[in-house]
Parts: sequence; C-alpha cells; structure tokens
Amino acid sequence: MNIFNISVPKDCISMIFDAFGNVENYSTTLYLHKSKITLAEEENLYSAQLEIDFDQDTKKDKMVRQTLNKEYGTFILTFLNADFSSAENAYNTFFIYYGLEGLNFIDEIKEKYPIEYTARYVSTKKFLDYYNKAFELVKTDYIKFQKDISNTVDYVFNLHGSQSPADLDRVSKFMAYSTAANLLGQFTSEIRLGIVKSFSEDIPSKFTNIKQVENLAYDIANKKISNTVGYLYESKSHFALAYIALNDLIQNSKRNISICQNCGRYYLQYSGKEVYCELPNIDGSPTCKSYASRKAYDNKIEEDIAELTYKREYQRRITQVYRADSIKKSKMKKDFKNWKSKAREKLKLYRENKISSEEFCDWIEENKN
Ligand SMILES: [Zn+2]
Repeated sequence: MNIFNISVPKDCISMIFDAFGNVENYSTTLYLHKSKITLAEEENLYSAQLEIDFDQDTKKDKMVRQTLNKEYGTFILTFLNADFSSAENAYNTFFIYYGLEGLNFIDEIKEKYPIEYTARYVSTKKFLDYYNKAFELVKTDYIKFQKDISNTVDYVFNLHGSQSPADLDRVSKFMAYSTAANLLGQFTSEIRLGIVKSFSEDIPSKFTNIKQVENLAYDIANKKISNTVGYLYESKSHFALAYIALNDLIQNSKRNISICQNCGRYYLQYSGKEVYCELPNIDGSPTCKSYASRKAYDNKIEEDIAELTYKREYQRRITQVYRADSIKKSKMKKDFKNWKSKAREKLKLYRENKISSEEFCDWIEENKN
C-alpha cells in the first residue's frame, strides 16, 4: 500500500498501519538535517527510506515532503524508545524520523513563536532555532505522554514486572489502562480519517464476473490477501498517532510488545519466544539478536569442558604423531586412528546426553598414552 498521491498539508503527518502486510507508511514534511533519503532498492521509489548521517554536511540540508515505508510497529516502538531528555537526544531518536509537523501543540507554538514557525524550513540555522524553542515548550508533555503510554504497554503486555490477570484480553486491558492514564485527554487535535484502496497486486483491476468476487472473498476469508482498503490517519499530533498505532497493534495484530533482554528497549516479537530485539542501533553496530546469538555460541564452546578436553587431547596426540621419528611414526599413526574412532564414539554419547561431562573427561584421562 502506498500513499504517494495523497497530498499532505503542512502541520500534519499521516499514517497507514497494515498489520497484515507488516508495513507502516507515513507521509509528512521533513527537514533533512543529519539525515538523507536513500532507496532500499535501486530505482524503486516506493522503497524510500530515511538514513541517519550524523556527519552530513549541513549545506545539504533541505526540506522534503516525503512518504516513507517502515516495518509495522515502527512508529509506536520509536516513540516508546525515544529519549526526550534533551532537544538533541529527542531529535536523534525521534524527530529526525517523524519531523516537527505533529508537535501536538502547534497552535501554542505558532502563537508564541510566529516568526520562527514561518521560517522553520528556510535554513538549518532557522530550523534548529525553531526546533529548540518548540521542543522546550512541549518537552514535559512528551515525557509525560511517553511515560503514560509506556505504563499502558507494560500493563497490557505484562512488562517491567506488571502482572495483569491471565483471563483478561488485551483490548480490555488497553481500554481500561489508557482510560485510567488519561491518554486521550493529552491530545485534543482532530484526526482526519481517509480510506484508501489497497494497491495489492492480487486484487483484479477489473471484475467481469461474480466468480472473481467470490474468489476474492475466499482469499480475504482465508487470509491469503490483506484487506482491500487501508485507513489513513492524518493528525497534527504525534500523541494521537501513537495512540492509534498502539490501538491498531492490539486490535489487528497478534504480535506482542516485549522488552529486549540486552538493550532494554521495547520491540515487537514475531514468535513470542525470542528475547532479543532486532532494532537498528544508531551507531550502526550489530543488532542485539545477532550479537546475542554469537555470544551464546562463544559461551557454549567456552563452557563446554568435555568438548574442550576432547579438542586438547586430539591436538596433543596429533602433535605427537607429527613429531615422532620415522621408526615410531607408523605405529603411532595407527594408535591415533584407533583412539580417534573410540573418542568420537564417546563424544557422540556425550553430545546425545547419554554420558556426563565427567564420564567423558574420565575416559579421556584413562586412555592417555
Ligand atoms: Zn535490543
């Protein structure tokens, strides 16, 4: 699904959430500062992505109106994980991606800083000047809303020690907690709802008989294709969109939000069993998942005394064979071969959990030459 042809007025950010297709789509005015637009796939305009580039020459900074495709759940996760403690951190972790059209309190900002607001995309200096002033005005509200929506997520998904009754469904928990936390009371802006036709290639462009309609209905019923329409939410408020994103996730997706055991960030699970996130790191370092699986592999080898004992003894014996003089060499080679086949049998038993690590090591010790 794409929303390329839909013009987005200033002050707004619009989004489509498609849980079925695992995509999320947003469109807004961005000022490319410390960032650039690249294509994930060459010549495919639909694959536009925002790439962070902290070293970018500010002369290249410019305003664009851009539509970007992200994985489903990216917006709510980015909002939950953002660091709103300072203007710079907030920019690098949130506003760099989603821009300033959605600052929730735009009318207040406009009223207080009309000149800065009007000139906000004229130059990098003006952009940062506006951003820093606007952020100071909304900072505490962003921190509060983030905290309240995080607590809601914790309650719904049983995170950070929260334990809600097992017989309660996610939707009821979400509705109850978000009401208690007064999430809705924290954004007043209107949300414009648009309905757009799905661009799925599996939907015929023209229907000539009722059989085609029937086939399409079956494909929808059997979840072979996603819905034929998408809902486009347009808002002046990041808070409103965060609320809608979380609501959509809870209503339309079976996936759970969890906390990464390595970095502590919120992430979206696929299977429900994984414990590490695959979120990108700002410095470009490997994801927690790939880092953790490497570490687990290293630890396994390191801690497995039986495997290590085998490796050492093998190395010791083969070195002996190489160093032996020509008279002893052929006998030693034969001995080594014998030992190797017996040792491998024992190792197999150990790997199948049929003998213990101690038993295996004892055997190695008893059979030294
Ligand atoms: Zn992580």
